[in-house]
Amino acid sequence: MTDPSQNAASRAAPAGRPSDATAAPGWHAQPIEQVLKALDASPRGLTGSDAAERLRRQGPNRLPAVRPRSRLARLLAQINNVLIWLLLVSAATAWFLGHGIDASVIVAVVVINAIVGYVQEGKAEEALGAIRNLIAPRANLLRDGHRVSVDAAGIVAGDMVVLEAGDRVPADLRLVRARGLAIDESLLTGESVPADKHEGAVSGDAPLGDRFCMCFSGTLVTTGQGTGVVVATGTGTEIGKISTLLHEVQPLTTPLLRQINRFGHWLTGIIVAISVLVFLFAHLIRNMGWADALMSVVGMAVAAIPEGLPAVMTITLAVGVQRMARRNAIIRQLPAVETLGATSVICSDKTGTLTRNEMMAARLVTAAGRIEASGSGYDPAGTLSLDGKTITADRTMPANDLIRTGLLCNDARLAEHDGRWQVVGDPMEGALIALAIKSGLDIEAARQAWTRLDEIPFDSQHRFMATLNRGGDGRSVIHVKGAPEKLLSLCAAEARPEGTAALDHERWTRAIAQAAAEGQRVLGFAVKPLAAAPQRLAPGHVEGALFLGIVGFIDPPREEAIAAVAECRSAGIAVKMITGDHAATALAIAGQLRLADKPEALLGAELDRVGPRELPALARRATVFARTSPEHKLRIVQALQSAGDVVAMTGDGVNDAPSLKQADIGIAMGRKGTEAAKEAAEMVLADDNFASIVAAVREGRTVYDNLRKVIAWTLPTNGGEAMVIVSAILLGFSLPLTPAQVLWINMLTAVTLGLVLAFEPAEPDIMQRPPRGRHNALLSPFLVWRVIFVSLLFTVASFSIFDLAIARGLGLEGARTMVVNTIVVLEIFYLFNVRYLTGASITWRGVLGTRPVLISLATVIAAQAAFTYLPPMQRLFSSRPLSVADGAIVMAAGILLMAVLEIEKALLVRLGLFQTGLGMPPRRAGPPDGPQPEPGP
Ligand code: ADP
Ligand code: MG
Repeated sequence: MTDPSQNAASRAAPAGRPSDATAAPGWHAQPIEQVLKALDASPRGLTGSDAAERLRRQGPNRLPAVRPRSRLARLLAQINNVLIWLLLVSAATAWFLGHGIDASVIVAVVVINAIVGYVQEGKAEEALGAIRNLIAPRANLLRDGHRVSVDAAGIVAGDMVVLEAGDRVPADLRLVRARGLAIDESLLTGESVPADKHEGAVSGDAPLGDRFCMCFSGTLVTTGQGTGVVVATGTGTEIGKISTLLHEVQPLTTPLLRQINRFGHWLTGIIVAISVLVFLFAHLIRNMGWADALMSVVGMAVAAIPEGLPAVMTITLAVGVQRMARRNAIIRQLPAVETLGATSVICSDKTGTLTRNEMMAARLVTAAGRIEASGSGYDPAGTLSLDGKTITADRTMPANDLIRTGLLCNDARLAEHDGRWQVVGDPMEGALIALAIKSGLDIEAARQAWTRLDEIPFDSQHRFMATLNRGGDGRSVIHVKGAPEKLLSLCAAEARPEGTAALDHERWTRAIAQAAAEGQRVLGFAVKPLAAAPQRLAPGHVEGALFLGIVGFIDPPREEAIAAVAECRSAGIAVKMITGDHAATALAIAGQLRLADKPEALLGAELDRVGPRELPALARRATVFARTSPEHKLRIVQALQSAGDVVAMTGDGVNDAPSLKQADIGIAMGRKGTEAAKEAAEMVLADDNFASIVAAVREGRTVYDNLRKVIAWTLPTNGGEAMVIVSAILLGFSLPLTPAQVLWINMLTAVTLGLVLAFEPAEPDIMQRPPRGRHNALLSPFLVWRVIFVSLLFTVASFSIFDLAIARGLGLEGARTMVVNTIVVLEIFYLFNVRYLTGASITWRGVLGTRPVLISLATVIAAQAAFTYLPPMQRLFSSRPLSVADGAIVMAAGILLMAVLEIEKALLVRLGLFQTGLGMPPRRAGPPDGPQPEPGP
């Protein structure tokens, strides 16, 4: 990739490096003290004002953005479409035949269509760009000795960056400290095995892949922790040197849209073939002059071409993405918009997604008894009571040891904003600080007295965290907290008020089960005094610790999650909870959320025992997966998928990335999620909230519905217009409307009526239907039936009106004017019918319409009035003014159409045809408590 020698050379004078023209050996070859000095940095991080000043000088830590498509390219893309080419060929033909007006109208169709498409797609692209910015990468830094999370673009040389598993390295760093740190550098070196990192300097000529004390921007932390000082940002980084463009622009397309485009090609072929046949028929059999025949055929072809369809479909999709973003669901991969609507199972994390993740330590059990804590949230106001009597636990053995352990084995901080206490860091750890304050412990003094020498960070695989601290008296003690069974297995003895005793396994197991059954999240605590402090704390050092007791935390379910779960159940979507927590805790919370009537739990250990054959059935039955690790998630997704489910799965850690990728919809947490999880996901939740997933599913269903509505409106109206002309030619009738008039209708309605369905809100019963099948075709038999049926109705109506008008003595021109008005009115009425694919359209809500509907309606009516009554228009299109009575006849035709189609809809629903393969969902899901209803028999 990059030549190392060249690299070393360019290292000598990197951009944005302050005041160190002498540092020739490169950052990786210098001792860390020298690096810090050269960068004028400190292990406590920069001060806020220094960082701001440096940012002003160095510029933002960003690679130049991909240049968006030029306006001209975007405009041309609108025209680069077979349907449009066919239109242009038609225009040229009309021109050569001397039909200047017709040619101009066709060109106007193309131009107006392109402009509308251009403007709408431009808006959509802009909105998507803005949405993407919502998930700009963030990084953790030390500033003034405090850990803060900042937008990665605000990082400057000299900043102290904290790295954890799952982080994308935000800039080039020289490590100050590394603990089990391994980084996937395949992006830069092509090496797929993660590189182990440590802080010691390496030789000056080490190639990029061997600079073990450096971390490079854009690479991914796979395990461990580290701190490093920023040596280069933006284009000065290694990645900045080899590639200036990191993010490719996503095309505004999805499998469904490609399917529609293919359909467009196919349709074009059919239209051309029919045109040729009709032309030959008209010229040879009906003896029409070839120029007239050709013009009629051109009119027919133009009418049949759904030229607005591709743009409207894209807009529908973009509107959906915007609506989802408004509901805190940010789409990273556009195809997810479609898949979301088909979701049949949502696998969700428990803590923070289904629950509020506002922990309070409610109960503390030691060998001396059970202590209850009062208070709410992280507010440290509250008291502890033992057997109903208020106590201060700082003098109660062994509760005092336990509370101190909770305070020291802890990386969180509590902060008060406007009277509300909030936690910075892990919520359970925040709750432990509040508990320590309630107990009367002087937390500042305790932290001062016990300096931390080293730690083993928490990870969801081992389920414990340990710190090594040296006390004021020189004693070294390991403080441990973690999943209680884990700690019990690590401990040999327990602390009693009178001293130590053998571990009473049975009693602790009972206490844990009791707290868990009440829905409490339980942590165990232990200490281990050491004769001498080791250099590095290793998991082996923790063995044989002294068990102190447990703490039960309450973490109430989110109110909105309860409602969202109910919505899922009525929508035939199963919700499964996947958690690292205790089964009893998880089941209690599942009960409160009413995930199922009798939730069943499956343990991670049980999952390990069952084979791939039995797993799908087991996975479908279980509601709760407890004590799982991230690898289990992958198996669960695969099992559910092999059972035919469309699976949405949440995740936040680096280990969740494989299951997020495997899931049909991978959902990453926007707040607590790692960069690795977000990048693997299709969707990011800005508020980490389960209810937002359900909102997104609802929008996904709406988008799919609207795509169907767009098609269900566009194809039959175009087909109807074309069929009128074809029938006239085949049957030898005089044309009920001229080619120019067909073109007029087409131009007017495609950009008004055709567009509004993209903005339709969800139908009221959208979350009462079961999910659509994974492979349901968009062009269902129902739609095909609709295209034919409605085209026929249009044809019959046009000829009837035409004959009626002739009989009323309106003459050819007057009759044609009536037909044009009739077709437009039919299209309007049909629009109102299509707005509710299965429900009745004649309701208040249906008649009132949405703003886009009303605006387009007003435009169409004004344009039709001009067409009928304005003299210049009359000259252009040979139209004639109509009387009030004629207008009433036109309206009557529309009302009749509406009545026929509503009866058809009701009949199809009544006869159950919607359930039997017409591709329409039944009106109601099965009983909400029953098993998963299958889509279709
Ligand atoms: P969840 O799916 O509920 O988020 P986690 O994988 O985060 O589960 O945690 C699993 C278990 O690990 C918890 O039930 C708890 O016992 C323990 N645990 C979680 N966080 C910490 C921590 N910061 N320190 C020690 N133990 C923890
Ligand atoms: Mg967790």
